[in-house]
Amino acid sequence: QFQKSKGQHILKNPLIVQSIVQKAGLKSTDIVLEIGPGTGNMTMKLLEVAKKVIAVELDPRMVLELQRRVQNTPYVNHLQLIQGDILKTELPYFDVCVANIPYQISSPITFKLLSHRPLFRCAVIMYQKEFAQRLVAQPGDPLFCRLSVNTQLLARVFHLLKVGKNNFRPPPKVDSSVVRIEPRTPLPPINFKEWDGLIRLCFNRKNKTLGSIFRQKPVVALLEKNYKTFQALQDASGSKVQEVGADPSLLGDLAEDDSMEVEGDADAMEIMEEDGSGDPSSFKEKALGVLKQGGYEDKRSSKLTQDDFLRMLALFNKAGIHFT
Ligand code: SAM
Repeated sequence: QFQKSKGQHILKNPLIVQSIVQKAGLKSTDIVLEIGPGTGNMTMKLLEVAKKVIAVELDPRMVLELQRRVQNTPYVNHLQLIQGDILKTELPYFDVCVANIPYQISSPITFKLLSHRPLFRCAVIMYQKEFAQRLVAQPGDPLFCRLSVNTQLLARVFHLLKVGKNNFRPPPKVDSSVVRIEPRTPLPPINFKEWDGLIRLCFNRKNKTLGSIFRQKPVVALLEKNYKTFQALQDASGSKVQEVGADPSLLGDLAEDDSMEVEGDADAMEIMEEDGSGDPSSFKEKALGVLKQGGYEDKRSSKLTQDDFLRMLALFNKAGIHFT
C-alpha cells in the first residue's frame, strides 16, 4: 500500500525515531514543522515534547490514518495536519523542522526552508546518504560541490546519524543520513543571483583552474555582455547602480540540484580559449586581472572556501564584472 513515487518509506525502528527527536533539542514551547509524517511514527514522538506539530502530508490516505491515530489521545489538539504538497504549501511559522522527507525533492525542500522567513532555529532532516554527504562536504572533499557551497552560505550543517536501509518499510535502495541545519543570521549581504552565477561557473569544471575557466570563449563572451549591460545601465541612470543586498526571495535558483554534475568530463570537452590573448585592453585580460589580483588564477573551486568565493565575487563586482 506504500507508494514509491511519493517516497513512502516508513521509519520502523523506534530507537532511530527517538534519536532523531532527541537530537532536534526541542523545547516544550516549540512549534514543529514535520514534512511527510506518513503513518505518524515520528509525529507521535514529537507531540510528546513539543507544544504543537504542524504536519504537511501529500497522501490523503496517510492524512486519514494519522488523524485516526491521534484522535483519542491527549495530543489531538496539538496536531495541525495539512494535506498538500510541501513545495506548494505556504509554510507557517515554526521553530524547528523535523522530517523524514521524500528524497526526490531533497534540494527544493532544503532551499524552501532556508528562504522561509522568519527563520527557524534548526532543521533535523533525513536525506539519502549521498545527498547528506554533499550537504556537509568541505573544500577538498571529493563530494564538495555547488550544493555544499550554497547550503553552507545559508546555514551551518552537521552530520548527525547514519541510518541503514533496513530501518525502513519497505526498505529503500539507498542508505540514509540525518543532518542538522542551522540557518545563519545575518546572511552575508550579497546578491544571490550574482553569487549563483559565479558559483555555477566555478563548479561547472570544479577541478579545472579558475584561470582556465575564465579563459573559455563562451565565458568571456557572457561576462563581457553582462559588463556592457551594466555599464549602459549606469550611464543611463547617471549614477552607480544600486547593489542588491541579501534578499531571501532571490534564493530560488540555488535549489536547482547539480547532482548530475559529471566528474572528470572537463578533459573530454575541449575548452575553447579566446584568441588574441595578451591584449591588456581586452575584456578577458580584465577578468583574468581580477583573478590574479585575488591570487585565484591557479586555484580550483574544489578546494576554495566560502570566504574565497565571497572575496572573489566582491573583487569582480568592484571591477564592474557581473554574473547575472
Ligand atoms: N515520516 C514518515 C516516517 O518517518 O515514517 C514517512 C516518511 S516517507 C520517507 C515520506 C512521506 O512524505 C510519505 O508519507 C509521503 O506520502 C510524503 N510526501 C511525499 N511527497 C510529498 C510532498 N510533496 N509533500 C508532502 N509530503 C510528501
